[in-house]
Amino acid sequence: MQIKWNEIESKWRKRWNDTKDFETDPNTKEKKFITVAYPYPNSPQHIGHGRTYTLADVHARFYRMKGFNVLFPMGFHYTGTPILGMAKRVEAKDKEIIENLKNIYGVPEESIKTFVEPVKIADYFHKEIKTGMIEMGYSIDWRREFTTIDPVYSKFIEWQINTLREKKLIIQGSHPVGWCPKDQNPVSQHDTLGDVEPDFTEYILIKFKYENYIIPTATLRPETIFGVVNLWVNPEIIYKKITVDEEKWIVSTECAYKLEFLDKKITYDGEIKGSELIGKSAIVPHRNESIVMLPASFVESGTGTGMVMSVPAHAPFDHQALEDLKKAKIEPKLASLVNKIMPISIIQTEGYGDNPAKEAVERFGVKDQSDPKLEEATKEVYGKEFYGGKLKQNTERFAGIKVAYAKDTIKEWLIENKHADILLELTNTPVRCRCGAECVVKVLNNQWFLNYGDKDWKELATKCFDEMNILPQEIRSEFNYVIGWLRERACARQHGLGTKLPWDKDWIVESLSDSVIYMAYYTISKFVNNGTLKAEKLSKEFFDYIFLDTGDANKVAAITGMSENIINEIKREFQYFYPVDSRHSGRDLVPNHLTFFVLNHVAIFPKSNWPKEIVVNGSVLMNGSKMSKSMGNIIPLRKAIQDYGADPIRLAIIISAELLQDADFNMESVSGIQNKLEALYNECSRLKSEKNDILEAEDRWILSKTQSMVSEVTSSIEKMRLREALHDILFSFESDLSWYMKRVNAKNRENISGILHQINSTRVAMLSPFAPHIAEELWEKLGHSNLVSTSQWPEFSAENVNASAIQSEELLKVLIDDISNILKVTKITPKKITIYTADSFKSKVYHSILEKVMAGQTNMGIVMKELIVNPDTSDVKKIPDFVQKTIKDILSEPTEIRQTKLDSKDFDEKSFLTNELIQLGKKEFGVEIDVFAESDDNIYDPKGKARHARPFKPAILIE
Ligand SMILES: [Zn+2]
Repeated sequence: MQIKWNEIESKWRKRWNDTKDFETDPNTKEKKFITVAYPYPNSPQHIGHGRTYTLADVHARFYRMKGFNVLFPMGFHYTGTPILGMAKRVEAKDKEIIENLKNIYGVPEESIKTFVEPVKIADYFHKEIKTGMIEMGYSIDWRREFTTIDPVYSKFIEWQINTLREKKLIIQGSHPVGWCPKDQNPVSQHDTLGDVEPDFTEYILIKFKYENYIIPTATLRPETIFGVVNLWVNPEIIYKKITVDEEKWIVSTECAYKLEFLDKKITYDGEIKGSELIGKSAIVPHRNESIVMLPASFVESGTGTGMVMSVPAHAPFDHQALEDLKKAKIEPKLASLVNKIMPISIIQTEGYGDNPAKEAVERFGVKDQSDPKLEEATKEVYGKEFYGGKLKQNTERFAGIKVAYAKDTIKEWLIENKHADILLELTNTPVRCRCGAECVVKVLNNQWFLNYGDKDWKELATKCFDEMNILPQEIRSEFNYVIGWLRERACARQHGLGTKLPWDKDWIVESLSDSVIYMAYYTISKFVNNGTLKAEKLSKEFFDYIFLDTGDANKVAAITGMSENIINEIKREFQYFYPVDSRHSGRDLVPNHLTFFVLNHVAIFPKSNWPKEIVVNGSVLMNGSKMSKSMGNIIPLRKAIQDYGADPIRLAIIISAELLQDADFNMESVSGIQNKLEALYNECSRLKSEKNDILEAEDRWILSKTQSMVSEVTSSIEKMRLREALHDILFSFESDLSWYMKRVNAKNRENISGILHQINSTRVAMLSPFAPHIAEELWEKLGHSNLVSTSQWPEFSAENVNASAIQSEELLKVLIDDISNILKVTKITPKKITIYTADSFKSKVYHSILEKVMAGQTNMGIVMKELIVNPDTSDVKKIPDFVQKTIKDILSEPTEIRQTKLDSKDFDEKSFLTNELIQLGKKEFGVEIDVFAESDDNIYDPKGKARHARPFKPAILIE
């Protein structure tokens, strides 16, 4: 039967809504507080957004069935530039945006018109996203929903920001930030197109003198000033003459523009062609030596100042450019200047002589300055010199210092003597703001910063990360790395929705700073939504009392006008649910949100309320490629639900990848899942719950296998290895079931409905967190009267695992396989098949060897000796070959299997095969099968095969 997904899904959503099972209040059970990063409602959700929320929902549903009191809430992030940026682009009548809204997401035109107002966008998509989440079946407690511009939320953020400031973690000062020149706003990852974090590099500008101008060159290696022998200028570039504060500089146009944002006063005085500078001399600061300016094509106007100082002994580019120039046709006067240039060696590094640049260029076989191999040569020289180099005598007072330590000292010395300045440049250019403008680095004055550079703060956060569970484990090092480089971060903006800085109302708390401890707010938002909490009277004392357990109820009651009882009820709610047990988010939030989440928790809350776990997932691809509007491969989530059903989408996303990998969504896998679920539906519709008292071998086996499935699935979900878990439930278990059916059919049994009912009830229960709607439907078809989503998670029970049933069934399977293989290879049409099992002596020896191996003894000689010494087994002398093969048999199997064999000591192969193989074999191969033990008196053994039999490896004769 074809399943009507939407019909089934809305039926169960209504039931969940009526039963209010996902509304969670404190009770006596153990709690789990599972949260996921709330969405920016600036566009509707597509399939890609569904992944993180689906994973978190599976997690929440799993723990609910495990008996925990699970809180899984949701809010909406109205703050900041993501929504503002969208409003601006609509206002500017950005064609791409408007077309996408209309055509991909089906937003009505009259709604789009209102989108020039940020809050209208947020409200529209808030509703849209929430409906999508409900349609996906997320088990959210909607009573706790909020937006980040709700008045009580603003009070909460004011409290957070004030608390941080009291702890001196919010500071005011001048710091560089990524900046949108059009919006006049700092930008970070969430403000940029393609979600890139603006990253910048600090260059040291060395000031060379030319006439009454300064020619600054940018470098990351200020120590090399001692080895400068010429400057490089690109003759094709037209440079700007500018006044910077009081000085006259010559720099590229791009550099002049960058300097405007770096807290310098810039005026433009004129231009000069690069070619006019060639052959002229410049003065090296500090040693007042004259050097020549030479032409080089590798010099780019967009990098640094558009002029480069040349250190040919240590910079492969400089060495090669000089070599190129020596070969080029240039005027004789310039050529004689070039020929006079001698490299100055200033760094001693093990493995290099006096001219590391030359050595590297020659070794890499560099052809000219456009050769890409120059980059590699440069990397090698810089790396080796930085970590292993020491400055030579000609670096004066710095002689003997390791290069790795020299940089900062020399930088300070140069700046003190006014020989240098600083240039900040974006490293990952171009970075575009969501408004479309290209971003720059700006030094912001009197800006408010979170002092994430603070050492003690970082240490505390590291402690929290060290003690917390991070899934998957391999992402842990990324957090350490982020904590390492993190520095001051602007926490306020001048535009956008959000909460004003309590002490400076010109500023609005930005979106990555007002979204770090809001998980705590879910414990009070319930009281906001039911009208208990009002913004007006909420004060520092209130929040301190609830969240930090300081102050007293009496005083808070007086200030807020609420009763002590209510105040204490709110506090209990927080104390019950906190800390966060699991925080879910996409991998892109590792370097910002997730790290800030930890930093702010450790700053504000006592250790007992620090987060316990972070779960990070990869993104979603569509048919193997990135989803993007320009690719036209974006599927809005709600449309996909309508077309394919929520459960098939949930499963298709989960089954395609483990946590950190990118999930590949495609229609084939959706329809494969639909078929699978339909087959399960048909199966469950047929089964009746019947008691079956007499269990046969295959029943004991399939019930044991069901137990292993329970154990494996449970442990996979605990590690959030959801792909593996789902695969076990839906697919791996199928091969066990089909073997079971083969066995049952061979015996023409009809009394198995009860067993299948029991097995499928277990499967459906375990499927329920993944595919909640269809699982309810299947559960109902199986005749259960409760909801599966609130039923008990199947418990692994060791008593229901029958080791000898597993062992004997494996034996049977292997035997059937072996016979099939022999028939395939020999192409015989069999007339008769005879099976020989090992005798009881071999069995005794086998178990004796198995015990020794399990006790850690794998030395064949010692095992043999011990067997001979024991009178019970001393006869093995006659069959040394058997002992050798048996040890091999045992060692080739995994420990669990050895254990089950050890546990099934009394297993009688002959009687089992006589009972179980004959019927099955007849059905499979169409002939009679006889079974003998090798020591039977009446044995039929014309080919002398029987003596080859070993325990679990019967001998086979096919005629
Ligand atoms: Zn902008």
